[in-house]
Amino acid sequence: MKKLIQIFALSILSASATAGWFGDDNKATNTKQDAKTYTLKLAETWPSNFPIFGDTTKNFKKLAESMSNGRLKIRIDSKNKHKSALGIFDFVKSGQYDLGHSGSYYWKGKDINTLFFTSMPFDMTATEQHAWFEYGGGQELMDKVYAKHGIKSIIGGNTGNQMGGWFQKEINSVADLQGLKMRIPGFAGEIMAEVGAKPTNIPAGELYTALDRGTIDALEWVGPSLDLRMGFHKVAPYYYTGWHEPGTELQFLINLKKYNTLPKDLQTILITSMKLAAYDMLTRSNHESAKNWASMKKNYPNIQVKTFPKPVFDALRTANDKLLKKLAAEDPLSKEIITSRHNYLKKARAWTAISEQSYLNSQSK
Ligand code: CA
Repeated sequence: MKKLIQIFALSILSASATAGWFGDDNKATNTKQDAKTYTLKLAETWPSNFPIFGDTTKNFKKLAESMSNGRLKIRIDSKNKHKSALGIFDFVKSGQYDLGHSGSYYWKGKDINTLFFTSMPFDMTATEQHAWFEYGGGQELMDKVYAKHGIKSIIGGNTGNQMGGWFQKEINSVADLQGLKMRIPGFAGEIMAEVGAKPTNIPAGELYTALDRGTIDALEWVGPSLDLRMGFHKVAPYYYTGWHEPGTELQFLINLKKYNTLPKDLQTILITSMKLAAYDMLTRSNHESAKNWASMKKNYPNIQVKTFPKPVFDALRTANDKLLKKLAAEDPLSKEIITSRHNYLKKARAWTAISEQSYLNSQSK
């Protein structure tokens, strides 16, 4: 014990000696502007204490404040405070907020090219898409789209592969999709409409009752990480595997004008904190999904995991390709992004096929 205390005392001594050394050095080189504190206000789409997504902004805040030694202060306003879940883009564009945390595909009505930076049906997994963002030109294309709005967008955390959703009835053919009332938003909803389903938009708080009472026949949410708390497994027996959101990436938004007022080191700390928080969200999503799936299987052994039969996938894929072609024809930048994603997916998937996919196939019992 005595030895431990000695070691502890020594380490304190060496720590303070080190801090002193760097402290003096900092004093010598810091300018007055460097020592300034910058308070940045962040608006998020999520309500207060929303798990995983909301933890990502809290982690970002902790990292940014501690890495900057308090020179960055982050103030987070959840939906409960600013009252506009889908107002984040406008908040950051106008400068009412400096930062945002949301999902890029929510803004497709304002700028169609924001659609492509979250996840696309039949497209890249989280791993493949991260490689596209960082090394395949994805970030550059995102910069091109968002710069028009005076915004910078940075990856904001991935849910991993999302489940296809909870269904009251089995889907055995394309005919079973005719008139199927399903909560499935965005581009995937448009694909479902193209094959004859009826996508509906129902607020999150009303989804459970809508599925229970048969107001809707099916819905998609995320996966076990966030589905468990919604309770859908209590009212719908079929849990379909995913196709429409293979690697959903959230986004951080930064007002560019504000960003340019920050010293270079704080800009680096800001972006690094965002990416580290995003990395943690993917890790955490995997953890929570594995944990929650174990609990669902144990407590609700009647849940049946299903995958659409091939003809259904074929019809969905045909509809997907048709709608993408239409988008590409309507806007040259859409065409550039769709082509970039398409070419990168081809290359990345050939590698995934002989690496992870082959490994997983060889392990299946
Ligand atoms: Ca979803």
